[in-house]
Amino acid sequence: MIEPTHYLSSTVKGLKPSGIRKFFDLAASMEGVISLGVGEPDFVTPWNVREASILSLEQGYTSYTANAGLLELRKEISYYLQEKTNVSYSPSEELLVTVGASQALDLALRAIVNPGDEVIVIEPSFVSYSSLISLAGGVPVSVQTSGEMEFKLQPSDLEKAITDKTKAVILCSPNNPTGTLLNKEDLEKIAAIIEKYDLLVISDEIYAELTYDDVYTSFVSIDGMVERTILVSGFSKGFAMTGWRLGYVAAQPEFLSAMLKIHQYTMMCAPSMAQYAAIEAIKNGKEDVLHMKKSYRQRRNLFVNALTEMGLTCHVPGGAFYAFPSIKETNLSSEEFAEKLLMEERVAVVPGSVFGESGEGYIRCSYASSLEQLQESLRRMQRFVQKQKAGV
Ligand code: PMP
Repeated sequence: MIEPTHYLSSTVKGLKPSGIRKFFDLAASMEGVISLGVGEPDFVTPWNVREASILSLEQGYTSYTANAGLLELRKEISYYLQEKTNVSYSPSEELLVTVGASQALDLALRAIVNPGDEVIVIEPSFVSYSSLISLAGGVPVSVQTSGEMEFKLQPSDLEKAITDKTKAVILCSPNNPTGTLLNKEDLEKIAAIIEKYDLLVISDEIYAELTYDDVYTSFVSIDGMVERTILVSGFSKGFAMTGWRLGYVAAQPEFLSAMLKIHQYTMMCAPSMAQYAAIEAIKNGKEDVLHMKKSYRQRRNLFVNALTEMGLTCHVPGGAFYAFPSIKETNLSSEEFAEKLLMEERVAVVPGSVFGESGEGYIRCSYASSLEQLQESLRRMQRFVQKQKAGV
């Protein structure tokens, strides 16, 4: 008999399991639960996109594609990014199609991190960043943001975290879990620090399509930042294509060829049928994306207003599909709040603490659920919050 754990890599042993999973598993084992826990669109991928994939299969397009992805798709991504960011990326040298933004993040980190390099993560943050940094041999360094500042990164806090080992900063706007959107001014202040300390940025812009009030500014649109930025994005959120596993990365040719080297050994290429679907989505999906965005905006307004009315302070999230209200008034920790809410009212939310230190005192609610479900979850949450405040 061997002891399997004895053989595991110490890096992997050191990784923390995602705190979100625990709540999914618990919620899945219960009946009548309304889940505001999942970070994915409630829309099915539009039919024309599904049909394009089916057609590719009917035509027998089932082989490997180019390692970097179908050239036609890279061309479409290039047009799309030109329109959105004003930056012209070469389809043959500066774009790589990946298996979700998740793989793009992994490739970006593995391409630039030497053992012991520090990479800065702005918290509360998407749960994968720190683990991906560790897996790449780097050291994650957290910088906190605060609810009082609507979770916007303060440039002075960023500057304080920089050491001579810092290699890069991961930015995510609109943000998961806070929904915070950084505007041009915010980004310019960050860019000045990036330039001053000669750093790189991995800019995770997976929620770029989902902004509700202000125009979206990409980090690569900021003067001098194209050459320092590895832009990560994909189809999962804006195009409602989570299950297709399709993303991309855009960067200067030297960064791109380094990522391509890893990609060709570890992945070969993204699934062909998903790439054909993505061509259709990016070429002809504008109206569908706008329609979904309008619907999220309506739900955001309803949800955030209702949270505020029940006495939970919540900044108006400028993008993505998450509300991140404070639950401090209830005197429960975010984990206690989420667990009790699930047990007593059968509503699943994610405790803010899983997203980092400054997430404590908050919960993440995804409002990508039907209006009826949102309304019912709000009724249950209101009842729960009243009870907590009354100390019952
Ligand atoms: N970045 C962020 C901020 C996310 O929220 C997610 C998905 N939850 C991803 C990346 C990964 O997206 P994909 O499905 O394209 O791998």
